[in-house]
Amino acid sequence: MHGSMFLRFVFIISAMVLQIASSNVIVEKIEEKVENECNLSEDLINEIRGYKNVVLKITDHILNGKFKGEVHKSLQTFTDKFGSRMAGSDSLEKSIDYMEALLKNEGLENVHTEEAKVPHWIRGFEAASLVLPRKAKIEILGLGTSVGTPRGGIIGEVVAVRTFDELRKLPDSEVKGKIVVFAPTWQGYGATASYRGSGATEASKKGAIAALIRSATPFSIGSPHTGSQTYAQGVRKIPAACITVEDAEMILRMYNEGETVQIRLEMDDYNLEPVTSRNTVSELQGTKSPNKSVVILSGHLDSWDVGVGAMDDGGGAFISWKAVKFLKEMGLRPKRTIRSVLWTGEEYGYYGAKEYQRTHKENEAEEFNFFIESDTGTFDPVGLDFTGNKEAECIFREVLNLMAPLNATQFETPADGGPDISVWLNRGFPGASLLNKNDKYFWFHHTEGDRMLVEDPDSLDRCVALFASTAYIIADLSVDIPKEIKN
Ligand SMILES: [Zn+2]
Repeated sequence: MHGSMFLRFVFIISAMVLQIASSNVIVEKIEEKVENECNLSEDLINEIRGYKNVVLKITDHILNGKFKGEVHKSLQTFTDKFGSRMAGSDSLEKSIDYMEALLKNEGLENVHTEEAKVPHWIRGFEAASLVLPRKAKIEILGLGTSVGTPRGGIIGEVVAVRTFDELRKLPDSEVKGKIVVFAPTWQGYGATASYRGSGATEASKKGAIAALIRSATPFSIGSPHTGSQTYAQGVRKIPAACITVEDAEMILRMYNEGETVQIRLEMDDYNLEPVTSRNTVSELQGTKSPNKSVVILSGHLDSWDVGVGAMDDGGGAFISWKAVKFLKEMGLRPKRTIRSVLWTGEEYGYYGAKEYQRTHKENEAEEFNFFIESDTGTFDPVGLDFTGNKEAECIFREVLNLMAPLNATQFETPADGGPDISVWLNRGFPGASLLNKNDKYFWFHHTEGDRMLVEDPDSLDRCVALFASTAYIIADLSVDIPKEIKN
């Protein structure tokens, strides 16, 4: 969309200047014309603001009415029943069967699943210990897709570094046949997790026999955090595991002090052929052309095999489908369809979302209007993270302003929308992700600690109210959210 379609208006911001002279009060009005890039027609602004009472109704029903606490209760039943749900596991497939039946039972429409192939990696017996300079246990978690060690394990001398750069500068002869320990400083999730993603590859290039990587977390009480990793093409596949922040720092200190550090590592992990999993779909069908301009609400159902995936991403998945259910029960059926998709295979790299994108590609421009996702925790919501062009942003900002009753009007733009919906957002579709008070998210992420105690019933209620309100308004507006699709 551009040129004539792109309407520009001018916001008038009036500044009132009061002047007091003798007994008279003279009010002088100074009109300051501030050209804001965000300019919508008066009609559209009024239309959007007209949804104020709908937001109040949704919020009141969910926070104070019969839906209060329901998301937490359902999520608890689900995680207690299935525990962790790693791609390739029976537990994930059984949980998908359960969800499909539950969604039908709860009255959602067009409930079905759509197939997607996902990796199938098995975590076997895993153990590590410090051999030199003293004996001690090292807590590890193998990284998804890692190969195992030879039977009986390996013992190797350690080379410890903070950065990839430090490793690259070392002569190959100093790394060959050794175990590389990476102890990157926490610089946010993306930067730190890049060591998890390609630590094994970089170590292997230098001839190392294994890679142990500091967990991607800003805070630790001695727990390793798992996650996925990939081997670059052509490198020898060596075992890769995460260790605790405490151990990574200690090993780096010992190494830098000139100690000979030796580690024993045993991992019986291995990869099997990919298996067929499923994305789980349910809807509240729109009153006009149900298969066009659909608004997607989403989270992923798969998790790692540690913890129970309550936070990553049970909460995100459950607020997505519960929002659809609550709207239906409140009698709020919008013009366009709201579709909840519970993605599969996210943790290994958006396998479910990528397959869904591929199978829906032919008519995607007509089929999809807006994508919403929650995958960074469901703590207290503060707003939404928006991706889209300027015109879409203008509409979205007006919608977000209506979330004041939930204290969730914060607007941000991410570097990379997603994770799952980045498959569309990075190609010009508009969308948004939940912003929440998740400063402790990475404390629990991909650990045994990702369990129900992390989830708060009231926060989940506010999250689902935000999702339901936003999805309803976008699905009911007289206009589609503009997009510029690149391929
Ligand atoms: Zn996740």
